[in-house]
Amino acid sequence: MTFDIDMIKKVYERYPERIAAARQVVGKPLTLSEKILYTHLWEGNATQAYERGNSYVDFAPDRVAMQDATAQMALLQFMQAGKAKVAVPSTAHADHLIQAKVGADKDLQEGINKNSEVFNFLSSVCDKYGIGFWKPGAGIIHQVVLENYAFPGGMMIGTDSHTVNAGGLGMVAIGVGGADAVDVMAGMAWELKMPKLIGVKLTGKMSGWTSAKDVILKVAGILTVKGGTGCIVEYFGEGAESLSATGKGTICNMGAEIGATTSTFGYDDSMRRYLASTGRQDVVDAADQIAEHLTGDPEVYANPEQYFDQLIEINLSELTPHLNGPFTPDLATPVSEFRAKAEANGWPLEVEWALIGSCTNSSYEDLSRAASIVEDAVAKGVKPKAILGINPGSEQVKYTAERDGFLDSFRKFENARIFTNACGPCIGQWDREGAEKGEKNSIIHSFNRNFAKRADGNPNTHAFVASPEMVAAVAISGRLDFNPITDTLTNEAGEQIKLDEPKGSELPAKGFAVEDAGYQAPSEDGSHVVVNVSPTSDRLQLLEEFPAWDGKNIEGAKVLIKAFGKCTTDHISMAGPWLKYRGHLDNISNNMLIGAVNAYNMETNKVKNQLTGEYGEVPAVQRAYKAAGIPSIVVGDQNYGEGSSREHAAMEPRHLGVKAVLVKSFARIHETNLKKQGMLGLTFANEADYDKIQEDDTVNFLDLEQFAPGKQLTLEFVHADGTKDIIMANHTYNDQQIDWFKAGSALNLIKQQEN
Ligand code: SF4
Repeated sequence: MTFDIDMIKKVYERYPERIAAARQVVGKPLTLSEKILYTHLWEGNATQAYERGNSYVDFAPDRVAMQDATAQMALLQFMQAGKAKVAVPSTAHADHLIQAKVGADKDLQEGINKNSEVFNFLSSVCDKYGIGFWKPGAGIIHQVVLENYAFPGGMMIGTDSHTVNAGGLGMVAIGVGGADAVDVMAGMAWELKMPKLIGVKLTGKMSGWTSAKDVILKVAGILTVKGGTGCIVEYFGEGAESLSATGKGTICNMGAEIGATTSTFGYDDSMRRYLASTGRQDVVDAADQIAEHLTGDPEVYANPEQYFDQLIEINLSELTPHLNGPFTPDLATPVSEFRAKAEANGWPLEVEWALIGSCTNSSYEDLSRAASIVEDAVAKGVKPKAILGINPGSEQVKYTAERDGFLDSFRKFENARIFTNACGPCIGQWDREGAEKGEKNSIIHSFNRNFAKRADGNPNTHAFVASPEMVAAVAISGRLDFNPITDTLTNEAGEQIKLDEPKGSELPAKGFAVEDAGYQAPSEDGSHVVVNVSPTSDRLQLLEEFPAWDGKNIEGAKVLIKAFGKCTTDHISMAGPWLKYRGHLDNISNNMLIGAVNAYNMETNKVKNQLTGEYGEVPAVQRAYKAAGIPSIVVGDQNYGEGSSREHAAMEPRHLGVKAVLVKSFARIHETNLKKQGMLGLTFANEADYDKIQEDDTVNFLDLEQFAPGKQLTLEFVHADGTKDIIMANHTYNDQQIDWFKAGSALNLIKQQEN
């Protein structure tokens, strides 16, 4: 058994009391989102109502999930915390690092060979610290979580933006950076700005070619890629209850594409059926005891405009299939309007590849409905035109689909490729033949993201997102503008035929089956487990404790760079080819700030080395300062560190010896990450002082010894001509965060407290 029924029961036991406390402070009926948030407060019972979109709140999530690319640094950091075990149930999933090329068996072996060092590390560190490990080939993190761990009314965080998929089973599940996962695994609180709430009322019932995917494709068209930012999207209404749990998962999954914090649905029969079918009748029994708390209050859904910050209504009976894209998931087009729009925009209509699967759409229902289309076409003598790729979300789904004949249906395409149960083409891990030529072409898939280069690295691949059944229909016709509701196809005998509507099963009649799900349970007592990391590895490096503050003012610091304009976490720690060094702090530090524009010459990756007067690359110059034992600071503009919650953007400067980052304003997550890594994250008291800082300046902190909450710090900038400017800096450190700084990092402090 992989799920933790005792933990779930404990969560449910505290629900009634915590809901009562929440009702008291909020003073009105509660949405489902509020119920889950208020029952997961770090402080226990609510003592105050939090302002949506404004208050920062500490939460206590029930679970943590990590994928292989992000788990490396998260677990390397966790090892620093000095804990024997993780504080909450946690899992790691080997899914992102496996490339799709020829087909499952060969690709999986190749992926294991290429990444064995990383997989072995993850396996041993999970074994040691009580973390479940899903081995390469076991499946994609979010599908595996839905099948095994998600539960109504729970709260989880995961180091991947599509963690939100678990909303399909009524969770509040949120994608975070590795540093947040470390906090929760180490037993600390997790902070989130109280989200605003968007209600989506679903009325009617879907039929024919429409699927759950079309709900979110439609919502994405309404809200756009930014419309959900800072919000939880809560779906409700009779239409919501008519959807399967995995269909709900698809809708929540793509909530990430509208920027939503997460999305969720109230507990209903579809969830009961799915939980029971995946071996979790215990969870149903427990959830049924408090069922009224696992959905929004009736008053809320009766008058939603009074309780949500924004309300959208969609009638499922009128919803038709959509194709979203290219290059952005919010460019929504109903299939009936697609031909005209494609012609007007010059989108290539012929499709060479069609892909079904990923964490978004690889449920039993999805595969069965798509397979029915293929079966129908073949029975009517139509020869499918495109190449069809399938990447199943988990071994359990794949095994069951194989048993029930769906994979054989797909194999009726001459050129079908069943890929590994892994991310593959969805994350650019697709070695597509000919992609390097950069030719303009179209593909269609049932994944979630379709940014340029995302699937095959070719910037001219126009990727369109659709439901699995629409992907199958387009694959058969070979054309994007094929509308199966109205159009006919010519079969081998030259006859015109129409495809039947998709048919499928929500759940397998014979139940799910799997021989080896690919799960590795951790040792009960992992103290004997040795985590081996080769000192000569270029992909993994054990972390060393960052040094504690020496209690003195920082003196003689050099200005490494004054960043001009936008400086996101991508500018500070680039992705792309650097991804493979995510587990090796020293190697990945060679990308530190290489994308930032130097305000003194408006060039990237070219800063003055004040020791030699010569210009060099940012990491190289910083390494020269470090070697000479000279501290440095980074100066930045507005909203410094916006973008992702990537902790590397804070760890790299810390590792290379930067002491402080002084900016006009911070993106909050990056500011917190700097604090956690023991850095000084400061803002100009007077933004105009940014202009006073010169290229050859030396910086002295005058009163760091009196570092205290709410008290400005005084910095002296000594210019090359001997003149000086005193610049006052604000900060937002509280007492605990100052302790992090003094200890050298938050993890150092945890470790000290542990000993
Ligand atoms: Fe992310 Fe795609 Fe993998 Fe899902 S399948 S976790 S979206 S890379």
